[in-house]
Amino acid sequence: MSSFAPRCGVLHAERTPLDLVAAAHGTPLYVYSRGAIEHHYGELVSALSAVEHLVCYSVKANPTGAVLRLLAERGSGCDVVSGGELARALRAGFPPDRIVFSGVGKTEDEIAAALEARILCLNVESEPELRAVSRVATARGLVAPVALRVNPDIAAGSHAYVETGKAGDKFGVPWEDAPRLYRLARGLPGLLPRGVDLHLGSQILRAEPYALAAARVAELVGALRADGFGIDLVDLGGGLGISCGEEPPLTAPRYAAAVLPAVAGLGARLIVEPGRFVVGRGGVLLTRVLYLKDVPGRRYVVVDAAMNDLIRPALYGAWHPILPVRPRPGRTACCDVVGPVCESGDFLGRDRELPPLREGDLLAVLDAGAYGSSMASNYNSRLRPAEVLVEGDRHGLVRRRETLDDLLRLEVE
Ligand SMILES: *Cc1c(COP(=O)(O)O)cnc(C)c1O
Repeated sequence: MSSFAPRCGVLHAERTPLDLVAAAHGTPLYVYSRGAIEHHYGELVSALSAVEHLVCYSVKANPTGAVLRLLAERGSGCDVVSGGELARALRAGFPPDRIVFSGVGKTEDEIAAALEARILCLNVESEPELRAVSRVATARGLVAPVALRVNPDIAAGSHAYVETGKAGDKFGVPWEDAPRLYRLARGLPGLLPRGVDLHLGSQILRAEPYALAAARVAELVGALRADGFGIDLVDLGGGLGISCGEEPPLTAPRYAAAVLPAVAGLGARLIVEPGRFVVGRGGVLLTRVLYLKDVPGRRYVVVDAAMNDLIRPALYGAWHPILPVRPRPGRTACCDVVGPVCESGDFLGRDRELPPLREGDLLAVLDAGAYGSSMASNYNSRLRPAEVLVEGDRHGLVRRRETLDDLLRLEVE
């Protein structure tokens, strides 16, 4: 299903023409499709329906309140990685018992906030963190439900910056060390070890790493139960990729077919933490052409969005399709679509065959719903984009564009 498709020569979000949205709210502009986000969330829920499960949407992919609220309303849980995300999640209406907290560097304040909110589980990533959670919990007379994030030593075959499940990565505890740490957790006051957690990385397009990980986790759960642990949560993390370029996508049924055989018999609740899969295809970044600039051997299309708005091409070499909202007839030309930021790495797309363009034309950068607005910055003192949610033929502002006042608000004179 594509919620962003041309109708009568104009690219639409659902039944809303994107040029109309840009005219109303300016550019650069993130536009999300409620239907697309609900659809991709629903795909995972139905694929996993054979087992008791909880989809914990990874808030860092897109933490905009409207996105969180629509997922919370659908029954989704969420995975947070900071106190800020925890606050956003609670504010958006996620029930605490559908929130898990991941991350290698939780502070005592963050641990305390999570425990006081009574979240479902803290995914703990080291022995000192285990001790910190125990300390914080006992000081408050609380019991902390914990899972250990184990490192399964599986190469998921994605970008090096987003591979997290290989031995030696900073994430998780070494596989061989897990039994000892579970026993340690059992001996520490204020801890209830109830889960096993892992996360392989991001933008994973093959099912095999997940099948391998699920099998390894099932083995560990068996060993822990034999040792007397009541493990009732099995968290396989996120990372499901969306197709970029030629590679075939990892569909929800293929993912489920890979993991369910190993975990279905465990009688534990399966948790998955997808971010990109749920929201990635549900958003586009709209940007206007400022200038067409021809230099020997290359045509640059200078647009009003830049790496501060969408850093994925610069940071990961990510490939986002770029389409004119109202394509003009004529021969295509090979172009680099670049932003105004003073860095040669500031590009949205290189070597793109685009139809004829003029200044003022509107382009849509597709698959920008995940790690787009959430990674946006004020670099070059640029104002972060506004965000709009579309539902059918209606659209509404869900985050306003930053102003110069916002930019200067925190300065102390
Ligand atoms: C980032 C992250 C996710 C989500 O990753 P996606 O690639 O967006 O699915 C899930 N779990 C953890 C622990 C993460 O750090």
